[in-house]
Amino acid sequence: MLRMPEFRYHHARSADEAVTLFHALGGCAGRGKDAVWSAMYIAGGTDLLPNIKHRLFTPRHLVGLGGLPRAEIRDEGDVIVLDGGVTLHRVAEDPLVQRALPPLAQAAGRVAGPQLRRMGTIGGNVLLDTRCLFYNQTAFWREALGYCLKKEGDWCHVIGGPKTCVAAQSSDCVPVLLALDASIRLLGPEGERELSLRDLYQFNGFDHLKLTPGELLTQVRIPRPGAGFRGAYRKLRVRGSIDFPQVGVAVTGRWDGDAPIDLQIVVGAINPQPKPVRKLEAFLHKPLNSAAIEAIGDLVNQQTRPQSSVAGDVAWRRAMAGIMARRALADLAG
Ligand SMILES: Cc1cc2nc3c(=O)[nH]c(=O)nc-3n(C[C@H](O)[C@H](O)[C@H](O)COP(=O)(O)OP(=O)(O)OC[C@H]3O[C@@H](n4cnc5c(N)ncnc54)[C@H](O)[C@@H]3O)c2cc1C
Ligand code: SF4
Repeated sequence: MLRMPEFRYHHARSADEAVTLFHALGGCAGRGKDAVWSAMYIAGGTDLLPNIKHRLFTPRHLVGLGGLPRAEIRDEGDVIVLDGGVTLHRVAEDPLVQRALPPLAQAAGRVAGPQLRRMGTIGGNVLLDTRCLFYNQTAFWREALGYCLKKEGDWCHVIGGPKTCVAAQSSDCVPVLLALDASIRLLGPEGERELSLRDLYQFNGFDHLKLTPGELLTQVRIPRPGAGFRGAYRKLRVRGSIDFPQVGVAVTGRWDGDAPIDLQIVVGAINPQPKPVRKLEAFLHKPLNSAAIEAIGDLVNQQTRPQSSVAGDVAWRRAMAGIMARRALADLAG
């Protein structure tokens, strides 16, 4: 049995109180692999609590976000707003999200299993820690291997070197949110700021978020897609009932008849940073026929470089990224 280390739980009743508590309780010293968290935020706890059991984090204080007053989905005209505490179940089932942002509803509905979706939040999904077969293990397991660069060690077992961590950003909603050009609203001691999701992630598995520790995610803001919008999310995983993605592919775009007038493809769960696929302009403003779909699948394949930090043969996961993009495009092209 894995025992939970001791911590004190503090129930925040507002976003301001959560930020104040975080800092008053010691906050975080250092960052990345040298970070020492005295306090951490906890939303649904579906990622954080297993990580605490594995001694990946040992905070003395948890600041609970479940008591924050608003956890709603709002239509603000040009923008659809999800408060950070909205559950993934709610995102998947909400009529506005299903109608206006169908690929996001699909992605949220494919996270983990039903119990975890009812606890897990969109904020926690966006800020999920990166994952690796050599990291998401018990302290005993990791000690036997001499730990690794992301936590307590000095060697990456995936790369076979001392410099880089390639643990994967493994959230299902993030590729879709990137394709939809979403941003997040953050609250820190100096006030609020907005950050595009495209600027949030960096290629560093032990420090993959360009955030100041303690910044609270209060909202995910998604521009309402224009006329002719279509989108899909495809996911490869070992067990369809529960598992994290081995590859996730988001495809979104606007169509004029059978021709896309803009197109975004983002591949997730391959690296610390989700991968937007480049050079799709060549396929715009003309019918998306089977030759074009085949060629886009090849582009996705060429630009996808999965790491073996995630389960599944890397060549197979790479090939599957292209195949899933082709299947999604074929569906969207009708
Ligand atoms: C068995 C299992 C399977 C899973 N499968 C999937 C899967 O298929 N796909 C997937 O995407 N995820 C999966 N997850 C991970 C997790 O359930 C989801 O990502 C969930 O959305 C995390 O949200 P949470 O509210 O539980 O986050 P928490 O665990 O509470 O927090 C996660 C991290 O985010 C921080 N945080 C949370 N909210 C905020 C905020 N508002 N502001 C600042 N920091 C914040 C926390 O401090 C912590 O570091 C799985 C988990 C388990 C245990
Ligand atoms: S990618 Fe390397 S450094 Fe990062 S968690 Fe995995 S083994 Fe550790």
